[in-house]
Amino acid sequence: MRIDKLLANSGYGSRKEVKQLLKKGQVIVNGVEIKQPKEHVNPTHDVVDVLGERLHYQEFVYFMLNKPPGVVSATEDMRDETVIDLLELTDQVRAPFPVGRLDKDTEGLLLLTNDGKLAHKLLSPKKDVGKRYYANVKGQVTEKDIVAFKQGVTLDDGYHTKSAELTILESGESSEIELVISEGKFHQVKRMFEAVGKQVVYLKRLKMGELTLDPSLELGEYRELTEEELTYLQ
Ligand code: URA
Repeated sequence: MRIDKLLANSGYGSRKEVKQLLKKGQVIVNGVEIKQPKEHVNPTHDVVDVLGERLHYQEFVYFMLNKPPGVVSATEDMRDETVIDLLELTDQVRAPFPVGRLDKDTEGLLLLTNDGKLAHKLLSPKKDVGKRYYANVKGQVTEKDIVAFKQGVTLDDGYHTKSAELTILESGESSEIELVISEGKFHQVKRMFEAVGKQVVYLKRLKMGELTLDPSLELGEYRELTEEELTYLQ
């Protein structure tokens, strides 16, 4: 990456301003003064000091958010608060975006990153990343529904869902279930229950692939993924 781009991305001002820093000899790469904005550096391997301070460059960020209800899974919205509004970002970081969507009223695990390649991989239908949800459902969920979801159900638009694993935790006038689906169609969990004549009244995502929502995160809280969690996803 060009040194002027690295410095600008790291919050040292516009390209013009960082050019001045370079000119004044304030940028040292691996112990050597660099003056040319065109000079290339490797931000992960080269040691860069600016104005006497070590630069810690983080190209990609990965956050796990416990999404609260009432917030939309988008980067911008005219009316509603977005999941990005919940993050405290420094201007050193290229803005992250949500990987996939949860409905406005859905809670739980949402991954946010600025790593487009990883997001693409996780959302690819070919990848079949399993997503585990917990739901409260109005009406009695039965063994028949387990079989139906395993075989796939037909949604209101005629789409036949892939095999999904339904577990009944509690069944009665209202039921508690967990459901693992490997697709991400619009309102999929709600529409799958509608297909068997039932209504989801509460929905929370617990897991995405091997990534589990940290139970210590309150609604609206988030944290960076650990190295280990990141390797599950890659
Ligand atoms: N399925 C839904 O119906 N809603 C969500 O937010 C996620 C999955």
